[in-house]
Amino acid sequence: MIKVAINGYGTIGKRVADAVAAQPDMEVVGVSKTKPSAEAYVARQRGYPLYIAEMSKRQAFEDAGLEIAGDVTDMIKHADVVVDATPGGIGEKNKKLYELYGVKAIWQGGEDHEVAGFSFCSSCNYNEAKNRQFVRVVSCNTTGLCRIIQAMDERYGVGRVRATMVRRGSDPGEIKKGPVDAIVLNPVKVPSHHGPDVQTVLPQIDITTMAMIVPTTFMHMHALQMDLKSDATKEEILAIIEKHPRMGLVRASTGITSTAELREYAQDLGRPRADLYESAIFADSIGLVGRELFLFQAIHQEADVVVENVDAIRAMMNVVDEAAVSIEMTNRALGFTA
Ligand code: NAD
Repeated sequence: MIKVAINGYGTIGKRVADAVAAQPDMEVVGVSKTKPSAEAYVARQRGYPLYIAEMSKRQAFEDAGLEIAGDVTDMIKHADVVVDATPGGIGEKNKKLYELYGVKAIWQGGEDHEVAGFSFCSSCNYNEAKNRQFVRVVSCNTTGLCRIIQAMDERYGVGRVRATMVRRGSDPGEIKKGPVDAIVLNPVKVPSHHGPDVQTVLPQIDITTMAMIVPTTFMHMHALQMDLKSDATKEEILAIIEKHPRMGLVRASTGITSTAELREYAQDLGRPRADLYESAIFADSIGLVGRELFLFQAIHQEADVVVENVDAIRAMMNVVDEAAVSIEMTNRALGFTA
């Protein structure tokens, strides 16, 4: 069993912990919190040993009736791989600790590519992650872009890509972020950082992106255009997406035309936390003007990177040779087929 520690048990960390616990070849050896919170109680209820970032907070945890197994240093001593899901910018500071204890570590998209020196997306560069000590799983938006661009590039060759990201303002549980009543250009400057981030995984792709933030909490929406280098038909593209293990088609017959209805669908499917791990591509939006492809895809920001972390663990431990096999194992353990 691969021993996995989760440093930073928040939006991403708690999902990765549950996804790891569901895998047949992995176990959670600990999760860390900075202060007692509802999530800390949930970690205890799930049976995950609870560690704390600073021992000075021990009393606060004990006062809350939360038993502490030790500090983060103690936790990583038990781990083969640490998934660092601390807030962007904090993870970088933990690198020294991982180096000191010679433990493998995975960072998230809030950290710069340089922290790990290698950026990961399961369906794009699984083999290159094998045996690495450090890997960064790219952000939710970048993961969504990489999946569809790689699939089109493999089949047709992709020239120029242009994408506009309409991003959620905050995650559902966050009460101090906005906007409440605005469309915020974020960044105002064009291009946004998302294009260069895609190139950390797919360096050959010519991509330019723009982004804005809107008052919603569930999912980002991408308006995507790309030039294909050979002739394609809509039927072929639908078939590629349908077969892809991390992309799903939102069919016109479902009547779904919004992220709100997608959330309802995910809940009705019985997905934990309404998580949609796969990119949701609107079948009717797929259009071709000559060799130029257009589509809309919705990306569940809290969920799509979770499954990528699980595959990254297998690649770094070099226990499963093929990306497709790991992806299938991960998906099956979480009870979904895209
Ligand atoms: P979060 O704030 O929800 O969770 C972070 C957790 O880390 C919190 O529980 C916090 O208590 C804990 N923490 C803070 N400092 C710590 C420390 N020094 N040691 C240990 N734990 C500490 O953040 P998040 O949204 O889960 O984001 C984590 C990472 O994932 C970031 O890099 C972010 O950019 C990336 N990411 C987030 C999303 C998203 O939609 N939320 C999507 C993709 C990637």
